[in-house]
Amino acid sequence: MTFSTGNDFAGTQGGLRHTEQYFERQLAHSYKATRNQLSGLDYSTKFSVWLASGALSARMLYQQLQAFEAKHGANDGSYWIWFELLWRDYFRFLHLRFGAQLYRRSGLRQRAASEQKSRRGVKLELNEGIAQAGGAVITTPAQVEQFRRWCLGDCGEPFVDAGMRELRHTGYLSNRLRQVAASYMIHTLKLDWRAGAAWFEAQLIDYDVYSNQGNWLYIAGLGTDPRGGRAVRTDKQALEYDRAETYRKQWGTL
Ligand SMILES: Cc1cc2nc3c(=O)[nH]c(=O)nc-3n(C[C@H](O)[C@H](O)[C@H](O)COP(=O)(O)OP(=O)(O)OC[C@H]3O[C@@H](n4cnc5c(N)ncnc54)[C@H](O)[C@@H]3O)c2cc1C
Repeated sequence: MTFSTGNDFAGTQGGLRHTEQYFERQLAHSYKATRNQLSGLDYSTKFSVWLASGALSARMLYQQLQAFEAKHGANDGSYWIWFELLWRDYFRFLHLRFGAQLYRRSGLRQRAASEQKSRRGVKLELNEGIAQAGGAVITTPAQVEQFRRWCLGDCGEPFVDAGMRELRHTGYLSNRLRQVAASYMIHTLKLDWRAGAAWFEAQLIDYDVYSNQGNWLYIAGLGTDPRGGRAVRTDKQALEYDRAETYRKQWGTL
């Protein structure tokens, strides 16, 4: 199916047209194999755009997925779409449980420390790590400049820069690049993760407060995951997902 006018995309009807052609072309069967790709319409569902505006609901999509599986059979691809929709639900529940705590620079780390304190019944000073968790508040001119360059896709790391340019020009970014760009901002530049989340909020056409805040918190290692920060190595990611350098060349960073 081709979308010929802007209205073809709009609202619930546009969303239903999109999902119909997605399932008709049986893309759900290859979803797990393609979901980590970087460019194109078909490698992931693109449901997020309609979900974020409320034009489609997760329930509607789940029903369509069930109908698809009844007609064409279930496989790990169709299962994985359901699994990813559960992540979306999870971040909603996280907000119901923790509310404003998710917006602190140290996220849920402080809570974990005070729970530990009361369990042991001894007074523990919050350690330096927890006080510093969440990155540096952006105040100095050097930090402002670092942050500005990261936002604009000009920080000097070609894979990250390519992603940030795509985000700024299109309002969309693959999940893979969202992870790489966020990890770089948090774990390499060591800047306050909340500023990165705010930049994504300003740019994303599928911006969703629960999923955005939840994913940033998760990558910063300040959410509920006991394994700590989810730093990814940018060079390894580029080698694995952009071996032919196509993506970086497309966005002019190589
Ligand atoms: C730093 C960061 C910020 C993000 N900000 C947002 C945001 O503002 N809005 C948003 O909708 N998603 C966000 N995500 C999650 C994910 O990147 C997008 O949902 C996905 O890329 C949207 O494209 P798609 O619909 O083709 O996804 P698909 O891969 O086709 O997934 C199907 C659906 O599952 C849900 N989903 C998939 N991955 C995730 C995830 N990691 N967390 C929560 N739900 C998920 C979405 O509703 C998505 O539409 C963020 C991820 C990261 C790492």
